[in-house]
Amino acid sequence: MGKTPATGRDPVELLEFKTDETSHIKLKRETTCREKCVKKPCTTICPTEVYNWNHETATLDIQYPRCIECGACRVACPTGNLDWHYPRGGFGVAYRY
Ligand code: SF4
Ligand code: SF4
Repeated sequence: MGKTPATGRDPVELLEFKTDETSHIKLKRETTCREKCVKKPCTTICPTEVYNWNHETATLDIQYPRCIECGACRVACPTGNLDWHYPRGGFGVAYRY
């Protein structure tokens, strides 16, 4: 992960997740990201780098297992294109301490 602190450790490694097989984050329309969102703020605001823009395929990669459920992306998306729900009961992030 690129934006990790000076320790070089991925902070997500400090957390525990129970990952559902189905993503709790979906796009309403895949083309909206490509055609209507120049700055793609989800790729910079997410603290755990769930979103990455794939320049080769011009698609948004969503690594939903890394989501810590902070909600920032839902506010930042300028087109309202994220279909985001909390993970099903029992799934998602769990804090170790
Ligand atoms: S901010 Fe919204 S519209 Fe823009 S790339 Fe991310 S999900 Fe797509
Ligand atoms: S809710 Fe927070 S951690 Fe999850 S994808 Fe959105 S910005 Fe990233």
